[in-house]
Amino acid sequence: MFRDTIDGFVQNHMTPDFEKWEKEGKVDRAFFKAAAEYGFLGLTVGEQHGGMGLDDMYSLVLLEQMARHNMFGPALGICAHSYLAMNYLNHAANEDQKQRYLALSVTAEKIGCLAMTEPGAGSDLAALRTTAIKQGDHYIVNGSKTFITNGVYADYAVVAVKTDPNVGAAGVSLLIIDCNSEGYTTTKLNKLGIRSSDTAEIGLNNVKVPVENLLGEEGKGFYYMMESLQTERLSVAWLCVGSCLGVMDLTLEYIKSREAFGKPIAKIQVLRHKLAELQTEIDCTRALMYLATQRLAKGQNVVKEASMLKLKSAELFKTVTDECLQMFGGYGYMEEYKIARAYRDARVGTILAGSSEIMREIIAKMYIDGIEYNK
Ligand SMILES: Cc1cc2nc3c(=O)[nH]c(=O)nc-3n(C[C@H](O)[C@H](O)[C@H](O)COP(=O)(O)OP(=O)(O)OC[C@H]3O[C@@H](n4cnc5c(N)ncnc54)[C@H](O)[C@@H]3O)c2cc1C
Repeated sequence: MFRDTIDGFVQNHMTPDFEKWEKEGKVDRAFFKAAAEYGFLGLTVGEQHGGMGLDDMYSLVLLEQMARHNMFGPALGICAHSYLAMNYLNHAANEDQKQRYLALSVTAEKIGCLAMTEPGAGSDLAALRTTAIKQGDHYIVNGSKTFITNGVYADYAVVAVKTDPNVGAAGVSLLIIDCNSEGYTTTKLNKLGIRSSDTAEIGLNNVKVPVENLLGEEGKGFYYMMESLQTERLSVAWLCVGSCLGVMDLTLEYIKSREAFGKPIAKIQVLRHKLAELQTEIDCTRALMYLATQRLAKGQNVVKEASMLKLKSAELFKTVTDECLQMFGGYGYMEEYKIARAYRDARVGTILAGSSEIMREIIAKMYIDGIEYNK
């Protein structure tokens, strides 16, 4: 039922404009508005803030089913708004901030982005150099952020800053910054894939941010990040697994219709076995994803599972698009075939929201060294 609603949304509000968005490098704002009207932007937000108050399983279904239609860019836009930016507000914002930002995000009156990565600090976020120095009732923010999804078109950014530049992780805080603030600039970045997803570099030059926009407590930014990263990483897994299913749908249809040596290529054993193997891997990953999301919904710690799923689903998306493109032969290399775009789009999965190497590092520390990451 919910999946049918999502399919209807995709058909009416994504498919008609998708090619235009890919060319323009952004989705229309009307896309977010339509998603809000379907209730998609506030699934896990409490009813008192205009949301649905549902558990994380609904979010899984939303992103998985949306991604299954092979339009990764707009699906990532929703993901960055709802499960990156809004997720922080939902967990760490006070009531005033929830009224000013979270409630307006549910209705798409405000679009959000999450700005952690800097030109000199990606995997190693404790090394971030953007500073926020308190002066009276404002912070003065200086620095830059890069690779920020929804960066150009967002109305507010949840930004990681150093309120105490003399210490590492303990000096990190989070600020909500209005993107129309003086000294806040954006530059759109040109990418290999997910072209309809807007990605930007953000400049922060003496930006004045009222102290009321500090998220949670000063110096606790890293703690909030660790807490939210589980949802962030699972949300990327929801997208990647959905995308794998979408690519398999395309491939199945193609190999049944394409003939070689007098029969559909779907009858060629080596291709059949390859697809069977890929589907097995997808189903196994999907099973863990459902289990981990159920645990997340119950408030349990899923740092290990979220890291494993981010790693496995993103690597699998890359493998599936590569193997499936091969089954399309020369047509797979042509832009008018969706598989070509999926191949480009898949490449980002192992990089964003924590690279595969960082995921392996976290899993190894937990599994080999017995380290526990309590959220
Ligand atoms: C399209 C796109 C959208 C993005 N959206 C956002 C967003 O909305 N918000 C945001 O804040 N960021 C975003 N990012 C940034 C993304 O999270 C970072 O690119 C990622 O965390 C890696 O950081 P980096 O690019 O600085 O690479 P680096 O940290 O410089 O790493 C370079 C390479 O070294 C490896 N490496 C680094 N440290 C280790 C280690 N200890 N062990 C093994 N290998 C290591 C990495 O895995 C990588 O392969 C986005 C990136 C892209 C490409």
